[in-house]
Amino acid sequence: MDEYMKPLPKVNGDNEEFWKGCREHRLMFQKCADCGHIRWPAAALCPECLSMDTEWIEAGGRGTIYTFAVYHVAYLAAFEEDLPYVVATVELTEGPHLLTNVVGCGPDQVTCGMPVEVAWKDVTAEFSLPKFRPVLKREYGIRKFRI
Ligand SMILES: [Zn+2]
Repeated sequence: MDEYMKPLPKVNGDNEEFWKGCREHRLMFQKCADCGHIRWPAAALCPECLSMDTEWIEAGGRGTIYTFAVYHVAYLAAFEEDLPYVVATVELTEGPHLLTNVVGCGPDQVTCGMPVEVAWKDVTAEFSLPKFRPVLKREYGIRKFRI
């Protein structure tokens, strides 16, 4: 693994279970034990009912593109090699919206509503990042790109 020069997540008491899950290639989210709301970002309180009673659940890793942008400018030098790249909000099947990258297809192939699945990127010994790739379906005509 080459030295990773991009920013890494800031782990805190609320999100450490999420990042621990990512290291194991498991997408974990908090679920309110009172109202059932599944939330992201991780927080001490449920934003729906303010309950502090929380359990962690594993998401299936599938969703759809809610919205996206194609970056043609690298605001940090470490991202230049990726240009152009896609930053997207993925709406997971379980409900949370996750800010991520779309990989495995060209930026011109990404559309809102496109089905995607998690594609783990191991960037350091401590961190694996959940990126998303198209669910390959013949009707989308997705060309394969390296991740
Ligand atoms: Zn709640």
